[in-house]
Amino acid sequence: MNIHEYQGKQLLAKYGVAVPRGKVAYTVDEATAAARELGGSVFVVKSQIHAGGRGAGRFKGNEDGKGGVRVVKSVDEVRDNAGEMLGNVLVTKQTGEAGKEVKRLYIEEGMDIARELYLSMLLDRESSRIVIMASTEGGMEIEEVAERTPEKIIKVFIDPATGIQGFHARDIAFGLGLEGAQVKSGVKFVMALYQAFMDLDCSMVEVNPLVVTGGGDVIALDSKVNFDDNALYRHKDVEEMRDEDEEDPAELEAAKHELNYIKLDGNIGCMVNGAGLAMATMDIIKLEGGDPANFLDVGGGATKERVTEAFKIILSDPNVEGILVNIFGGIMRCDVIAEGVVAAAKEVSLSVPLVVRLEGTNVDKGKRIMADSGLPIKSADDLGDAAKKIVQAVKEAA
Ligand code: GDP
Ligand code: MN
Repeated sequence: MNIHEYQGKQLLAKYGVAVPRGKVAYTVDEATAAARELGGSVFVVKSQIHAGGRGAGRFKGNEDGKGGVRVVKSVDEVRDNAGEMLGNVLVTKQTGEAGKEVKRLYIEEGMDIARELYLSMLLDRESSRIVIMASTEGGMEIEEVAERTPEKIIKVFIDPATGIQGFHARDIAFGLGLEGAQVKSGVKFVMALYQAFMDLDCSMVEVNPLVVTGGGDVIALDSKVNFDDNALYRHKDVEEMRDEDEEDPAELEAAKHELNYIKLDGNIGCMVNGAGLAMATMDIIKLEGGDPANFLDVGGGATKERVTEAFKIILSDPNVEGILVNIFGGIMRCDVIAEGVVAAAKEVSLSVPLVVRLEGTNVDKGKRIMADSGLPIKSADDLGDAAKKIVQAVKEAA
């Protein structure tokens, strides 16, 4: 799960991570009031969407070149810029052309920036450790730094048996070229960020840029915090930060029915039981020259109702031009799947080709249910046959 920048900063601040003062605003009036309360003479108006690259982004229908993060010098300017952002669609490198509507702003006090750095923590699967990554090239995308100047990325691995130690944090601070009092501030920052990462069951925390102020403080100017969904049950406060506006509606609906659904860009919808079989099904569709529209694992104990829901979710994607159902009836019975498929196809008055491959318990009964349904369901004998048939059917229908 992801949260907004301002929510990330609120959480991190509880652990002693230094962040600028700021307030969230949903309306122009709230933004203006927030600036007035913050006081001072420099403000930053920041669009809150779940995507990076906001600073360099642009608003649809407004080609003035102004992005989603703006530094301004008065409360009046906060009001004007808030009006230009709220309710408008921000397009960044990460949103795709469709962009994201800005519904919340974060109004922050302006910072006196001396240097922009990069800091992140994530789980390194290869070493089974948390890795801290840092770079002097802040403000830029880390992928770009990794490609062009990989030597500028410092990595420090934390042994889970010892947790973070002072020397780890000092390695980062010195590696970033911090000097004098900055070192103390940097070490405190890294230690606090690690504590937050562990306590909150994060999968990734990225601070880009991490800045050194003119006064020598090390402070988070941006935050991106991702959580391990499997641990969310023990962080109700984090769960409450979920912003459903930022999530894919089909994926949300799927989660409600305990279906593992991930939308992709292709045109062949897939309904499969088991993650491994779902991956294999997607591979074989590709091999036959097709493109999967989604990953969908209906799980081992799916009911007729769940299969119906799965069907509806697949069809809610307008790109879907055909569906491949591939079920191995082990725990699950083929006749139950067949009933679900038939019921769903009738309920949504299916208008795209449907290929079904069933194998396992009650397979004959399942095939009979489909054959007797009067629906134009094509039956397949094995995985390869199924993929060929659906790719062919979609081509013919086009
Ligand atoms: P992103 O583009 O979505 O990653 O958004 P960021 O929060 O990283 O902001 C983009 C850029 O705006 C940063 O790299 C900074 O250069 C600049 N910026 C953000 N906050 C401030 C601030 O308080 N003062 C100044 N002067 N610049 C800021
Ligand atoms: Mn950033």
